Amino acid sequence: MEIIVLDLEWNQSNRDQKKNRDPEIPIFEIIEIGAVKLNENREITDCFSQLICPQIYHTMHRITADIINLEMDELKNGRNFPEVMEEFLKWCGKDYVFATWGPLDLLELQRNMNYYRMESLGKGPLKFYDVQKLFSLEVIKDKTRKTLEFAIDYFQIEKKVPFHRAFSDAYYTAKVLEKMEWERVSALVSYDTFHLPRNKKEEIKVIFPGYAKYISRGFEEKKEVMEDREVASTKCYLCRKNVKKKMRWYTPNGKNYYSVAYCEEHGYIKYKVRVKKSEEEKYYAVKTSKFTTIEKVEKLRELRARDKEIKKNKKKMLSKEE
Ligand SMILES: [Zn+2]
Repeated sequence: MEIIVLDLEWNQSNRDQKKNRDPEIPIFEIIEIGAVKLNENREITDCFSQLICPQIYHTMHRITADIINLEMDELKNGRNFPEVMEEFLKWCGKDYVFATWGPLDLLELQRNMNYYRMESLGKGPLKFYDVQKLFSLEVIKDKTRKTLEFAIDYFQIEKKVPFHRAFSDAYYTAKVLEKMEWERVSALVSYDTFHLPRNKKEEIKVIFPGYAKYISRGFEEKKEVMEDREVASTKCYLCRKNVKKKMRWYTPNGKNYYSVAYCEEHGYIKYKVRVKKSEEEKYYAVKTSKFTTIEKVEKLRELRARDKEIKKNKKKMLSKEE
């Protein structure tokens, strides 16, 4: 399998887009696609770089103009998005996985593809490598996201070409990926959820070092998510059996839900469900399961008890006021 390291440049309107914006029209219009292809040894084998002639915004946004080295006149020599995109996908081949600096490129790419009614990149969520995330987690062991230039400086990679053009940023991202211990990072895939699993079969279940992740299909109503049997189930991801809950699902904010179960063989497992809303306005769950200690379980129970107490007191106060 090949790795396609992708980077995009995009433009936006100079007008205030919060007012009367047509939701069908993307806020960001892609104006350049740059990519490098890596083989299994993460060596660069091919390059892709194309400008796109804009169809939506015909003047350069003041911020865009400051950041990237591109003139509107240059773009007019480019071809339109669907044409370039088709060529790009052909160039990608059949067996590949995307790698990008952060999750935004794939989001904007799919928004633009959607706008032109192009076929989606695959069925359901899209597996990819978020090199920015890998750099934070694996290299600097910190959760904050760094800029690409930070990573280039960190590895003392030669800055041959200026930043903020699609091809150069894709090239630098590939260089950062090359510096990482592939045996460790290759398992750490991310999932883009622009397209949700359409049915139970397409739902994502993966085991990472130290935890497991589950991405559900979409639901029309928010309350349906936690009512779903699979979402609310507590399984041990090592023996795949349903294991007994030690704490019922608890939510401090209606967005994140927590539960605890105990596997006779593997110990305490803590579950966290985040209920999210997709691009297509559907609700879905991202559940992580992680082994934990009895001390941490106790802490969670205390937190829940305290929350309950606060809610009870609030109710009392309200009823008194009435
Ligand atoms: Zn188990």
